[in-house]
Amino acid sequence: MKDLKTLLKGSIPLIEPTRYVKFVVSARSGGPLSLPQPTPASELSCPDCGSTKGFYNLPWDAWSCAEDVCISKWRVQKGPEREPAYKNTIQGIPVGLESANMTSCDQPHQFKEEWIKWAINPISCLVFSGLAGTGKSYASVAILKLFSDCTKKVSRFVNISDLYLQWKLKVKEGHDMDLLLRLIDTELLVIDDVGQKTPTDSFTEFLYLLISKRNDTGKATIVTTNLTYNDMRVLLGDALTSRFTVGKAYKFTGPDRRKQPEW
Ligand SMILES: [Zn+2]
Repeated sequence: MKDLKTLLKGSIPLIEPTRYVKFVVSARSGGPLSLPQPTPASELSCPDCGSTKGFYNLPWDAWSCAEDVCISKWRVQKGPEREPAYKNTIQGIPVGLESANMTSCDQPHQFKEEWIKWAINPISCLVFSGLAGTGKSYASVAILKLFSDCTKKVSRFVNISDLYLQWKLKVKEGHDMDLLLRLIDTELLVIDDVGQKTPTDSFTEFLYLLISKRNDTGKATIVTTNLTYNDMRVLLGDALTSRFTVGKAYKFTGPDRRKQPEW
């Protein structure tokens, strides 16, 4: 929602008539409605007010009504007292990344366009690789938020070190299978910071089961890592690496974006 608010500030260029979209945003329904097939903007009109004046809604890759009557509905709904919708459906967003969003995401336009499309209907496993601080976690949280806004389904962000501690505790209690099943069931999962250290054999096995089951049941995953493909094979083994790398990989470059301490 915040993305839309940003978009609505200032003047809005109207959508190109020849642009094909798969969604039309309805302010009344509070989100994008999917079209039976990709449709050029010239054939679309507002499901709420009937106007044909639309703008391209980048966060949702959708046609969105540009009439004041519909735009004002968003403003009314977006009071500061309202909890953002994603709070209920995304678990584990780290403090500091709560405001992550695709509009402010400092990555190549081409990547962002692909991620926006992916977030609406995510499949397979994406790998975000690059040095620390290049924005991998930021981008993955922005994707989780888009996914949650569009689908209202549950997603989860988990740091690999936290997952390891959680898993160790569950093993001790004899409940590691519950943890595994819960994570397999999560619609979209981000596993952050893979490769910080060598995992134990049994944790590697756990990760292998997790990612294999997720891939096999059509659940989408994003893995962020500072490892290269070859480092990953050495550290995690071929079996797990091949499961992580079934989908597209994105290389993150650029300077460390994290705030440096002042000493
Ligand atoms: Zn309208």
